[in-house]
Amino acid sequence: MMRLDTPNCPTCGCPALGTLETVSARCSIKQFPSGLFEHSGVETKVFWDEMKTVFSPEGITLLCEQGHDWVSPGEFIDEPPVPVPAPS
Ligand SMILES: [Zn+2]
Repeated sequence: MMRLDTPNCPTCGCPALGTLETVSARCSIKQFPSGLFEHSGVETKVFWDEMKTVFSPEGITLLCEQGHDWVSPGEFIDEPPVPVPAPS
């Protein structure tokens, strides 16, 4: 969960639609006889498990439906632990 001090866009007033995230990906490449490389377009693997919310000491980066982004002061708040069923 998050506490957000500026949940509405300072530019247009729309509520935040989501957080800005970063994610890594691997795009396949091929080598030409010249020794140079180019993206092959064959495969791009996105490492969804590594997706992270963009935040800094100033706050959490938010996005509105109009495409604006801003940094809202705030923090992540740990959720109560989810009970794990006992092994049977
Ligand atoms: Zn906006």
